[in-house]
Order: sequence, then structure tokens, then C-alpha cells
Amino acid sequence: MITFPSEFISRLKKAKSVTVLTGAGVSKESGIPTFRDAQSGLWAKYNPEELASPDAFRRNPRLVWDFYKDRRTAAEKAIPNPGHFSLAKMEKLFETFSLITQNVDGLHASAGSSSVIELHGNLHRIKCSGRCGMVGHWVDDGLAAPRCQKCGAFLRVDVVWFGESLPEAELEKAMLASQNCDVFFSIGTSGVVQPAASLGLMARDRGAVFVEINYEPSAISRLADYKIYGQSGTILPQLLQALL
Ligand SMILES: [Zn+2]
Repeated sequence: MITFPSEFISRLKKAKSVTVLTGAGVSKESGIPTFRDAQSGLWAKYNPEELASPDAFRRNPRLVWDFYKDRRTAAEKAIPNPGHFSLAKMEKLFETFSLITQNVDGLHASAGSSSVIELHGNLHRIKCSGRCGMVGHWVDDGLAAPRCQKCGAFLRVDVVWFGESLPEAELEKAMLASQNCDVFFSIGTSGVVQPAASLGLMARDRGAVFVEINYEPSAISRLADYKIYGQSGTILPQLLQALL
């Protein structure tokens, strides 16, 4: 059993607005490989930019499509872990609860979290790589990279690739949620990838309590008011219990 500092629990119980940012560590506990881990076997010989960038897609749409098909298959087999479920339950305990994720596997929604702010998109969604703006559910004809029925351009997975900017509306929501919370959690993220680090900073600058839950100390640990190291799937259910 984890003993949380009593001051931390009382501050959390008093909070009206809580914002949570989750990263790859949370998905990893459900067996979702991180991007680096996904580059194994068949994919090991490629650089990340050869599998996940607009240039790579222009050069070889089929290769990129197949890489994401593999990643999606892995995500489809995965089920949410106790960390995901605890976060879904936590949203009911506070007046305002915002869940921001860097993960693209959709596991927070599967666990029952409502309105997840997805900074890096969603593996289960596709969009047109042309200008028509079509967004839809994953389709696959099993042969080549499929094309948009509207305009004929190749379809691509709706995730953020290297060299692409984050979806504006989601980023805006994430910034607002970070600037207007009483407690900010950074869970399962190294804090190196932007805007993860800056969201936490924004929260802290506005006086929020900053909590880090991660396997190990990270780039943002020195900013955290409270640090809890270990698996989020073990820590979050106990935190939820402490709040009830
Ligand atoms: Zn199109």
C-alpha cells in the first residue's frame, strides 16, 4: 500500500478543477508498445521519420499505412488497465476534470473517460491526405493504401507525425485546462516532448499543485510538488481509494 502525504490528499480533495496529462507509460502497462518499441521486427530497419512523417507518406504511402496497420492491430488487442479505469472514475469526483493524452490508442475512452483531449490524434481514425478534409473511421481493403472516396487522394491515419504541428483546437483546450486547474497531474510521460513540459509549467505558474506519477524521475520531476514513482496502474487505484 502506498501512503500518500496527507497534505497532498487534503489539497486534492479540496480541488475544484483537476487536469491530467498522460503519456506512453500509461499505455505501456496495457501492452501497447511505445513508438520506439513498435519499431521492432520488420520495422527495425527504418528510421522513425521513414515511418511517421509527411515525406515518408508521400514517398511510400503503403509502407506508412502498413506500419500503422500493425500499430492499430496492437491497440485493438489491448485493454485498459486499472490506471485508465481509475482516471475514468476520478472525473466524477471533481467539478471540472480534464484529461489530456499524448497516446493515440483510444484506451482512455474505452475505459469510460469522456471527452479526452487527444494531442497526438487517434489511431482508429483516418483522414484524407488531400485537401478535402474528410475524417472517418479506419478502413482497409487489405491491398494497397486506400484512397479517399471524395477526392481520390490517399487516406492516412489521423495521428500527428514528425514535422507536423499538433491539432490546434486540441492544443487550445489543453492549454486552457492547464491554466485553469487547481491540481495538475503528469502521468507516464518523460516530460521531454513538447507541449507536455510546458503544460505542466503553465499550470504551476498559475498556482496549481503539480503532481508527477512516473516509473522513474524525469525531466519535469524538479518542478513537481509531489512525486510518486511506480506503475500508474498500481498507484492510481490507490489514489482513487484515498479520495473516496
Ligand atoms: Zn479527400
